Amino acid sequence: MNLKDHIGHVPDFPKPGILFYDISPLLAHPAAWKATVELLAGAVSRHKPDVLAGIESRGFLVAAPLALYMGLGFIMVRKRGKLPGPTQPYTYDLEYGSDTIEIQKGAIQPGQRVVLLDDLLATGGTLAAATELLRDVGADVRGAACIIELAFLKGRDRLSIPIDSAISYD
Ligand code: IMP
Repeated sequence: MNLKDHIGHVPDFPKPGILFYDISPLLAHPAAWKATVELLAGAVSRHKPDVLAGIESRGFLVAAPLALYMGLGFIMVRKRGKLPGPTQPYTYDLEYGSDTIEIQKGAIQPGQRVVLLDDLLATGGTLAAATELLRDVGADVRGAACIIELAFLKGRDRLSIPIDSAISYD
């Protein structure tokens, strides 16, 4: 099965000049989605994680079924103000301005082995920030996985952890 057949390409979304890679057709196709979850589970299990962390919001769509499939817990990395406190924040620079992500304090115990999940790796800024946030609370961040990697943007070079992707665009 070619998973790329189930990725939409939407020009000029969410802004003019941006080509948006859409996982909606993949999620809507039971066999392709099952194959994706199984592929990512195989990659993620190498890290022997204690817990999976999903990044808001499409990362939740990956992390939650994967955690269930692997018999693991799932925690949420969310944008500021979405989680009931107390929370641990991490602020990082964007091209224009900055952004803050958070997790609930106590969601991860120091030394726990965590793997991060998101839908797509572009420049790597989001996953790099989530890695730092988890390290700030003492997590042992073993790796990351995503459905789509835009390899031509070289996001993995920005990361200090290994990353696996189900689909890569060169
Ligand atoms: P990065 O921080 O540049 O690696 O961007 C990755 C983040 O932006 C992920 O959380 C994605 O959900 C989101 N993102 C960027 N481009 C796309 C896209 O084409 N489709 C879906 N999500 C995207």
